[in-house]
Amino acid sequence: MDFQAVLNEIAEEITPLLGTGGGQVASYIPALARVSPMQFGIALRTCKGEEAAAGDSGRPFSIQSMSKVFSLTLAMRGLGDTLWERMGREPSGSPFNSLVQLETERGIPRNPFINAGAIAIADRLLTLGDAKSDMLALLSSLCGDTVVIDAEVAQSEADTGFRNAALANFMKGFGTLDNSVDTVLDVYFNQCAISMSCVQLARAAGYLCRDGTHPYGGAQVISEAQARRINALMLTCGTYDAAGEFAFRIGLPCKSGVGGGIVAVVPDTLSLCVWSPVLDKTGNSQLGRMALELFVAKTGLSVF
Ligand code: GLU
Repeated sequence: MDFQAVLNEIAEEITPLLGTGGGQVASYIPALARVSPMQFGIALRTCKGEEAAAGDSGRPFSIQSMSKVFSLTLAMRGLGDTLWERMGREPSGSPFNSLVQLETERGIPRNPFINAGAIAIADRLLTLGDAKSDMLALLSSLCGDTVVIDAEVAQSEADTGFRNAALANFMKGFGTLDNSVDTVLDVYFNQCAISMSCVQLARAAGYLCRDGTHPYGGAQVISEAQARRINALMLTCGTYDAAGEFAFRIGLPCKSGVGGGIVAVVPDTLSLCVWSPVLDKTGNSQLGRMALELFVAKTGLSVF
């Protein structure tokens, strides 16, 4: 298949729609609020190493909740099944930053992709090593470039992250966190503030379509079974409260972030990333979602 031609077609169809859909870029911190809505990028890398990209695919953006895939990867690799002693695996059906569910479920997050889940994973990563640099090292190795944290975004996350602080304190009260709330939140805010481009993210997610093997060189990043499970969680929990709709319309494991990126996996075939900063009501990239629908329609690639 001529993937470059497919991505060119998608970029041609999406670009005229920039600025027309009525959604808004994330505005809870200034560094995200000032991102131009008029941007769209798409990139993919096949299991065989073929690459294609179109639009603003090389421009770094704030990966935000997409980082939760990679922190989960580190935690599964380091802890194996003991991770699940403090973590659920079911879709939440509640907002990503909900406190209510955490109360009724006694401090155990529903899944690793809601904020409570990712904060609990940050705590686990602190017991395994230097969580921040381990994360940057994993991402840099996976995409073959040096990956960095945007310090302004990290500071703003800390300045405004009152709900996340509430979630962390709540979990600390229930005994879900071993480390101090401040230390755990520092890891979480910094991982949200990592900047990467579509090209880098498409490469970095490559192990998820290659049975857990590294996109360059083929060493095992995580086991085949662990890669399968991360894909399952992405499909069922990766796109906030729109996971059912994403499965229905796109049928690929996806993880989105409020920076407007969505990473998607076609198992045994390719990994791809789309980015456009304007979000729909569910917090997912409006045009990113449309681009993924176009990709599946044009290629017939879906897990279903
Ligand atoms: N930094 C955001 C928060 O924790 C991440 C949100 C997201 O991308 O889902 O609220």
